[in-house]
Amino acid sequence: MAMAQSGPSFFETVNLYFDKAAALTDYPQGLLDQIKVCNSVYAIQFPIRRNGGYEVISAWRAQHSHHRVPVKGGIRYASTVDEDEIKALAALMTYKCAIVDVPFGGAKGGVRIDTKKYTVQELEQITRRYTAELIKKNFIGAGIDVPAPDYGTGPREMAWIYDTYSAFYPGAIDAMACVTGKPVTQGGVRGRVEATGRGVFFGLREVCNQVDDMKALGLSRGLEGKRVIVQGLGNVGYHTAKFCQEAGCLIVGLSEREGGIYRAEGLDVDAVVQFQKETKSIVNFPGARNITPTNLTLEADCDILIPAALEGQLTRDNAPKIRARIVAEAANGPTTAEAEKILLDRGVLIVPDIYLNAGGVTVSYFEWIKNLSHVRFGRVGKRFEEASFERMLSAIEKATGRSFPPEERLKIVRGADEIDLVNSGLEETMITAYHQVHELWKFTRAGDLRTAAFLSALRKVAATYLELGIFP
Ligand code: NAD
Repeated sequence: MAMAQSGPSFFETVNLYFDKAAALTDYPQGLLDQIKVCNSVYAIQFPIRRNGGYEVISAWRAQHSHHRVPVKGGIRYASTVDEDEIKALAALMTYKCAIVDVPFGGAKGGVRIDTKKYTVQELEQITRRYTAELIKKNFIGAGIDVPAPDYGTGPREMAWIYDTYSAFYPGAIDAMACVTGKPVTQGGVRGRVEATGRGVFFGLREVCNQVDDMKALGLSRGLEGKRVIVQGLGNVGYHTAKFCQEAGCLIVGLSEREGGIYRAEGLDVDAVVQFQKETKSIVNFPGARNITPTNLTLEADCDILIPAALEGQLTRDNAPKIRARIVAEAANGPTTAEAEKILLDRGVLIVPDIYLNAGGVTVSYFEWIKNLSHVRFGRVGKRFEEASFERMLSAIEKATGRSFPPEERLKIVRGADEIDLVNSGLEETMITAYHQVHELWKFTRAGDLRTAAFLSALRKVAATYLELGIFP
């Protein structure tokens, strides 16, 4: 999808950001060129039977960088999918994985369909055929290319992909690791569904915990009390809004395709979703003001604006009217290059997609490890851990002559389950990566968080190539 009719395309925009960071390095031009290009693109056309006839479906898989394998990236189902968009998203995956130290190259897939126009059986047929096409060209496999969910897809589609793959490779011991984001019953990991939203929350919390940065924006430290607007109530938007609300944010605005709603005193995210289920729309939610057309929600009053739908949402037209002090990019590529310049000039802090929405691929990495090791996180050590804590508490009680209340005892003694380990690994990843990026922002000539994030990624990818001795 082109980002703006007159401006650079999505992939060109990503490369503009890359070039800005590359200008701060002294790597050989050939190395920079190699990192920037999209290594392989597979364009696919296949027929499906529909409405008594045939329909040709267009799809893509792009592998941006093989500096580490497997390559990894989601599969998107949308009527706006095109090759440029898939290449851009694959490139973002390369940089994202590097920023959060997930040892994969970047990839992305897309199928040009409006999911709302197809039955579940047709979606299954399309997903299975798309997977078969990837298998034919060796574009999928635990050590080759590992898809995951993205816009318009979820655990259901990932289960179909896994099932199709295992039918082609009966007995392959690593088959489960050919795709992530699967349902837990099909080898998925607990916490993957909400991982991107949870990662956005962890990242945003860290951003807001930096006193000096908040002071410069005229905001107080911490997430509590911040007024937040979220665009898109899908997987990423819903979970982000929910975790932010739980942390004490006021969710003042929410928007979906059909329109937006605003309530200065805050909206209850689950109540809005329940209302949406019942009425098929968030518009007319009791107590809230409607905003139409939906994109005007982006311009409403708030401290933090979280685009969590699609790319190209903040443009040169609406950027001057954005009232948020922080734009937190939960979606991929929501800010055009022109909008970015306007927002930065206005002193808005943009927390870039390649850092902020990396929680999904981080937990996908955990799922891949789980699938390859064939053991649930926590299974081996949990009881041993609990017994050790028990022994320690008993020793303390014996030494002090005081005993812990049963409730407190239970809390201290409890060993980690899979979900605890996944969430703690995600939290650690998002915090560590933010400080690496933050340091580059503050102590280089990066100038803004996005350039710092690209610089962080570029250095790590370049180091891999240099270690391989390809570029002496
Ligand atoms: P999703 O399909 O679950 O949800 C997207 C939502 O946005 C839908 O509810 C849709 O109706 C809504 N939407 C579409 N156009 C809109 C508009 N103009 N205004 C308001 N709402 C609109 O998709 P998702 O998985 O939540 O992905 C959202 C974004 O996050 C995408 O950019 C995706 O690439 C990115 N992302 C997703 C993941 C993941 O794990 N799913 C990981 C990283 C990044």
